Amino acid sequence: MDLKKIVRDIPDFPKPGILFKDITPLLQNPQAFKVVIDSFVARYKDKPIDVIVGIESRGFLFGSVLAYVLGKSFAIMRKKGKLPYTTVSYTYKLEYGEDTIELHEDAIPKGARVLIVDDLLATGGTAAAAAHLVKKMGGKVEEMAFVIELDFLQGKKALGDSPAFSLIHY
Ligand code: AMP
Repeated sequence: MDLKKIVRDIPDFPKPGILFKDITPLLQNPQAFKVVIDSFVARYKDKPIDVIVGIESRGFLFGSVLAYVLGKSFAIMRKKGKLPYTTVSYTYKLEYGEDTIELHEDAIPKGARVLIVDDLLATGGTAAAAAHLVKKMGGKVEEMAFVIELDFLQGKKALGDSPAFSLIHY
C-alpha cells in the first residue's frame, strides 16, 4: 500500500507558504492505519522500551495505539498549562519567541528507555525539545518515530545523538 498517496497535501495551511501534510485520510482508512501501526510494531516489538511518549497532539494518535499493542506505558507531552498534575517543563526557542512543553513528573521513571512518537518531523525543533525534556527527567531516548519526515528540512540534524525513524519520506 502506498501510504504517500493517502496522505493529503493542504497548501497554505495553517499559513501561506506551508504545505500541510494531513494524516487524517490515513486514520480514516483502516488498512492504511493498520500498515502504519504494524510497521511501528515490527520495528519496536523487540527493542528495549519502557515508556512511549506521544507529542501533542497527533503524536497521541499513533503513540497510544502503539503503546497498547506493545504493552508499554504511555505518556503525553503537552504544551504548557494543559497537564493537570505536577509537571516538569522544557522551554525552547522558536523562529520567533519560545515555547514550553511539559510532562507529568511521574511520566518518566529514572533510567527509563523511551520511544518518542509524533506524526511528522519537519525542522526537528519540536522533537529535539521532546528529547531534551525526556533526558532532563532522567530518561534515555531509544529512538524517535515519525509517520512522515520532510527530508528537505533536514530535521534529523537537529536531533543530535537521538536516533530517528520515519515511515514515509518526502
Ligand atoms: P518541527 O518542530 O518543525 O519539526 O515541526 C514538527 C511539528 O509540527 C509536528 O508536531 C507536526 O505535526 C507539525 N508540522 C510541521 N510541519 C508540518 C507540515 N508541513 N504538515 C503537517 N504538520 C506539520
